[in-house]
Amino acid sequence: MFDSLQPPQVPDAELKKFALSHFGLRGTWHRLEGERDQNFRVTEADGKTWVFKVGNAHEQADIFDAQLRALQHIARVDLGLPVPRVRHSLAGTRIATLTHAGSSHSVMVLSYLTGTIIGDKVLSAEKLRELGNMLARLGRGLRGFVDGAPASRQLAWDHRQLPHLLDHLHVLPLGGQVQAKTVIEDFCRTILPKLETLRSQIIHGDVHPFNTLMDGNEISGIIDFGDMIHGTLIQDLANAIADYIQPGADNASIMFELIRGYCSVTPLEEDEVEMLLPLIETRLLMTPLLLQLRAQGGAAEHGYLTDFSERAFPLLKELQGPNRQKLIATLRRAAAFPSTLPPPKQSMPELLARRHAVLGERLQLFYDTPLHIVSGEGVWLRASDGRRYLDCYNNVPHVGHSHPYVVEAIARQMRKLNTNTRYMTDESILFAERLTKTMDKSLNRVVFVNSGSEANDVAWRMAKAYTSRSGGLAMEFAYHGITDATDAFSPSNALAHWSAPHIRLVPPPDDYRGPFKRGEAGLAERYAGLADQPISDLANSSHGVAAAMIDSAFMTNGMLDAPAGYLQTVVEKVRKVGGLFIADEVQSGFGRMGTAMWGHRHHGVVPDFVTIGKPAGNGHPIGAVITRAEILDHFSAAVPIFSTFGGNNVSCAAGMAVLDVIRDENLINNARITGTYLRDLLRALMTKHSLIGDVRGVGLAIGVELVRDRRTLEPATAETQRVANLVRDEGVLIGTEGLHGNILKIRPPIVLKPEQAELVASAVDRALQRL
Ligand code: PMP
Repeated sequence: MFDSLQPPQVPDAELKKFALSHFGLRGTWHRLEGERDQNFRVTEADGKTWVFKVGNAHEQADIFDAQLRALQHIARVDLGLPVPRVRHSLAGTRIATLTHAGSSHSVMVLSYLTGTIIGDKVLSAEKLRELGNMLARLGRGLRGFVDGAPASRQLAWDHRQLPHLLDHLHVLPLGGQVQAKTVIEDFCRTILPKLETLRSQIIHGDVHPFNTLMDGNEISGIIDFGDMIHGTLIQDLANAIADYIQPGADNASIMFELIRGYCSVTPLEEDEVEMLLPLIETRLLMTPLLLQLRAQGGAAEHGYLTDFSERAFPLLKELQGPNRQKLIATLRRAAAFPSTLPPPKQSMPELLARRHAVLGERLQLFYDTPLHIVSGEGVWLRASDGRRYLDCYNNVPHVGHSHPYVVEAIARQMRKLNTNTRYMTDESILFAERLTKTMDKSLNRVVFVNSGSEANDVAWRMAKAYTSRSGGLAMEFAYHGITDATDAFSPSNALAHWSAPHIRLVPPPDDYRGPFKRGEAGLAERYAGLADQPISDLANSSHGVAAAMIDSAFMTNGMLDAPAGYLQTVVEKVRKVGGLFIADEVQSGFGRMGTAMWGHRHHGVVPDFVTIGKPAGNGHPIGAVITRAEILDHFSAAVPIFSTFGGNNVSCAAGMAVLDVIRDENLINNARITGTYLRDLLRALMTKHSLIGDVRGVGLAIGVELVRDRRTLEPATAETQRVANLVRDEGVLIGTEGLHGNILKIRPPIVLKPEQAELVASAVDRALQRL
């Protein structure tokens, strides 16, 4: 397979005659270099120039035809790519056959591309990037091209033929043979088996400076498709890089620019980036090896070959030198992957000191020993110590951390467009339509903001404007946000400092700790009756009742499972005095409660406002108020409302992806099934652990209340904190909640599966045993 394929030696006169009779081509002839073929440039009288190519007699016609078909394929996909165009013969074929001295030669005519070969010219960063971009376009242009000839071809230049070269290392300079052996053997052992798992197609395979043309400052051509193979995409880039780097040049920059340019068209996969350097190194060795083997067959006589050992070994030394890790980091960064350079080793105290210095000392951290999290996938989080944790606390990654469908939707939209609602944009309209379709028909207007706090704040402003009143109702120990207005609705922010003269607090429907106990008759009415006093007090004040703001999951009140009919009755009472109802669905929305998409549906109420946040974008910041047309119209007639980021295209794409995943993965059902199962498992622990006073909640919002005495219900506050820490040691993340901080809060992404629920229950069991 390393035979010399000397170019044919057909006399000029015979060629000219053939060109005229078979292609109607006549003009001025000029001989061109060729490793295997006999090539000429022919300039016609009208100035058009062509390459007249006489193929080597050993080369099969099907390989040539594959090249010509490939060029035609590229022209169909990407007409602007500067590759030669095919001139058909007078008989309408791509190839004509010339017989000379008993041998048949394939003859073809291609358009001649202007410019000169780049050769040893140094390219600017901008041109290198352009070349990388072109290389990727070339790959894209060949995508979908099917041809049996390159597919079945065993070309010595293909990395997959490297095992055969091991027997021929003696042709290399003596000093380099050992190193070449190590590099090639390593490659065959570790890289070659993985190569077949990468993206493959027919590739050019040989984009080097002598196959690339420049005309002035333009890259004007990529030529010579003679080494086309069916290989991996990344080989194309690796070969180009290996051929463009030079001893003594700033090769990290050359590689960076070529890769960046390539990725601007075809982003690389991480496995491809990982194989780039070994592919480059072996290509560096293949060049002198194969050319030397050819030279032994006589090809060197044609002056086409130079000594490539002189560049291969210094370059190999550089790539394998002390800066190798830094170089790998550069290649990864060029392909938009984070550097794998080990981060400077930092102890937790050092990290903490840095955090305090920039974020302040009072920003809360969970756990006695803080968790340093580095990545997430589904219901799992990975910490910097390499340990995996089952995340049963975070409700923002609602459909699972880094859900690939959501991630892709965000990335795709970010690549396409991200702007604001002052322009007509499809995504904001579509997302708003889809949200309103999940609700009562009356809730038909959407105002996009960026967080739950903002949504509640805006809903509150609208409620005040619509009712011309200024008083609000909230649950005792509620949480609704961080803005000035929502802080007033959030006594849980700082109970001791809470003061809001325009807000009245309603006792929560807590049938465990409250005055009326689970199982008693008329619970809904009796708890709703506790709202009478604050409602009438506010109604009779100068404020009047503008709205009640209630979280359907009663999360901060301890994940209460409010008696059926309770919320309906409270809302009726509020409406009776002219107030509106703001259903804060930041916690309870998007199927968490397992029975319906929204908590208010679960309670059988139609609100005046629905506010959403946290889970809406699975981690991408989204907030929205959904309300009635008359309320929005009333408000915006006086005060135009617009949020710069609210309703941006990327957020809306994320939001729609979340809705898709909830539907496609049947997650509302999953929240109900897994939630019920997990509560059952936790309840079963009550016989073993007297500390567990109550297990409650709805869907995947689960509260486990810990008490020192099941009769007095003395809150086991300190124990609850310790249990949360011990559960973390068991590899499961949960939180604590409630006025007394004695409730274990289990609120996982709603993709939690029953078998994972078993891990949670046994972690709680073991933690209670170790307490
Ligand atoms: N309402 C409720 C019920 C919440 O739980 C939260 C956040 N925990 C908010 C509003 C505020 O949302 P954000 O943090 O996005 O402002």
